[in-house]
Amino acid sequence: MQPSRETFGNIPRSSQILFYVLTIVALGIFAYGVWRRFSLWRRGVPVPLGKLLSGNLQARWQELKPRLHRLWVEGLGQKRVRGRGLPSWAHGLLFLGFMVLFLGTTLLEIDHLTSAISQTLHFHKGTYYVIYEFTLDVFGLLFLIGCVLFFWRRTRRPASVGHKPTDWYVLLSFILIGLTGYLTEALRMTWQHPVGIAAHCSPVGLLVAQAFSGLGDAGARSAHFAVWWVHALLVFGFIASIPYTRLFHILAGPANLFLAAPALGTLVPVSMEEVEKTERVGVGAITHFNGQQLLSLDACMECGRCEEACPAHATDKPLSPKRVVQDLNRLMGLSLAGANSTAPRLHGDTISAEILLSCTACSACVEVCPVRVDPLTLITDMRRHLVAEGGLSGTAATALRRMQSSSNPWGLPAAERANWAENLGAPTVRDNATFEILYWVGCAGSYDRRAQRVATAVVKLLKHAGVNFAILGREEKCTGESARRLGDEFLFQERAQANIATLSKYNVRKILAHCPHCLNSLLKDYSQFGGNYEVIHHTQFIAELIQQGRLKVLSETESAGTVTYHDPCYLARVNGIHEAPRHVLRALFNGGSSSGMFTEIPRNREKTFCCGAGGGRMWMEEDPKKRVSTARAKEALSTGAKTVAVGCPFCLTMMTDGVAANDAQARVMDVAEILVQRLKL
Ligand code: SF4
Ligand code: SF4
Repeated sequence: MQPSRETFGNIPRSSQILFYVLTIVALGIFAYGVWRRFSLWRRGVPVPLGKLLSGNLQARWQELKPRLHRLWVEGLGQKRVRGRGLPSWAHGLLFLGFMVLFLGTTLLEIDHLTSAISQTLHFHKGTYYVIYEFTLDVFGLLFLIGCVLFFWRRTRRPASVGHKPTDWYVLLSFILIGLTGYLTEALRMTWQHPVGIAAHCSPVGLLVAQAFSGLGDAGARSAHFAVWWVHALLVFGFIASIPYTRLFHILAGPANLFLAAPALGTLVPVSMEEVEKTERVGVGAITHFNGQQLLSLDACMECGRCEEACPAHATDKPLSPKRVVQDLNRLMGLSLAGANSTAPRLHGDTISAEILLSCTACSACVEVCPVRVDPLTLITDMRRHLVAEGGLSGTAATALRRMQSSSNPWGLPAAERANWAENLGAPTVRDNATFEILYWVGCAGSYDRRAQRVATAVVKLLKHAGVNFAILGREEKCTGESARRLGDEFLFQERAQANIATLSKYNVRKILAHCPHCLNSLLKDYSQFGGNYEVIHHTQFIAELIQQGRLKVLSETESAGTVTYHDPCYLARVNGIHEAPRHVLRALFNGGSSSGMFTEIPRNREKTFCCGAGGGRMWMEEDPKKRVSTARAKEALSTGAKTVAVGCPFCLTMMTDGVAANDAQARVMDVAEILVQRLKL
């Protein structure tokens, strides 16, 4: 006889009917809860789905492919959940066990329904049965281990993780579902007496069944019936509670992975037509977010990863990306309760200007979120409204005014923009019409005395390597990057359009930038307005020149001591450029000729920690004790480095201040400056 078992063995017909009635009730409560949340998301602005719903088949597939890929790799594959020790293991085991048990239960029900139609359709038997029972037995154990690990972690109440009373219900019900599942199986085996492979394919159940050997068949049947019902009721409770507890991320998480349009370093433009139509700029109320953004608030399971990564939170600013998401979620819930008139306002009551302006736009929160919630875009959208309503004051507002009036945040005369290059022999686009690459100097390189030395170093290297380049000189204007990240979208667009016109005039296709903010803006912001360029960072270009032998590293230099490198957020995390500066530094300090040693800061590459200057915070006054730069410089100094290398003029300023705030003696230098010094140019 083939090994098999009845799905409802020992369960009377009346109980089976009640079981299905309760299934429908649980699914009804579940569906109502999902509908309530869905109706909230629908109150937002329609979700921009690109070419997903329009365009030809190929365009739709191009839009669909990355979304499916995210579901596969980050949803099923849990890519963003891995690599964090115990929490990752706990989630991984629970997720894996849950998925297998869910799939197994679904298959069991399919078998039950098809068998009712015809016994020939009964497939829960033979080899399939053995594999099925063994798999579910093992994965049930993994599920339980994951639950227990989570339970233990929650008892320790990690500060960054959210805590709700329902979390205990969820975890306890999971553990009880797992335990009663094994008890049901063990009691079923006690009265059913399977033998051979039919028994051994359920090793855990068989082991537990030994505890019931004294019960006798009748006792085992009664106990089995009772435990089966407890198990079923727990499962119904679980299904019904999904939309009302943290469990909802099971649905909202994958939905957000599919719908989100993740691209670090990009922002959705605002058009004048849109403003005229809606009579507002940015997000002034919860319903001004789009449907996907509202859905993302429900996808958040308060894991706290964003908070742990946030430089503003780490330095005692009032901002926590997790709290922003949760506070917005609460506000969304209040709007569901029909409390619009009495609900707190979004700006001021729920999210203060201080919170919004604390963000450095470093993208760390976006990068770490397992379900791709994007607190940065939420914040920027609210900033846009804040700025449009005149809510920006102080030094940041002054910087924006100066960007408008003088095309640079320092408010220095536009006519002096190229003064730094006098006597350097850096050709302008007018002098050298046949240039191959345009060197975009940026406002810092043009006006800030310290950053001018970086621009000078870059020019020296380009000339030394015989590169055919040119600068825009006085025709270059601020990219408007800070304005955009601060929330002044229209000032940014004005700057972008002016620069794109200039770049078109000189037929620029390839740009070299030493500022990662300029690089990101020219590459990702400008392409939204018709400016498409190949943009390369100076460290990439220098690394290429070294590789081509056009820049030769000297073999005899004095000891420079230990050198470390601070990755700029907009270079390493946002644009994935982190190896080129290391190639240059390693050539100089390890594999190359110079005595000295290159060492890494603990948080490096994509995991870098902000210097505190992004998101327009470069232009804001800050209490030295709360500066992000002080914390980051301390981390860099902990390596014992005597030189902190950087690849960004903002980082240069911030890290220099940070080293000083730590009363340390280390030098902060751009990679280009270090190379120029070594080459004695
Ligand atoms: S936003 Fe993402 S990273 Fe932050 S707490 Fe929520 S789920 Fe976790
Ligand atoms: S972008 Fe950076 S500073 Fe802003 S909320 Fe996210 S982690 Fe914090």
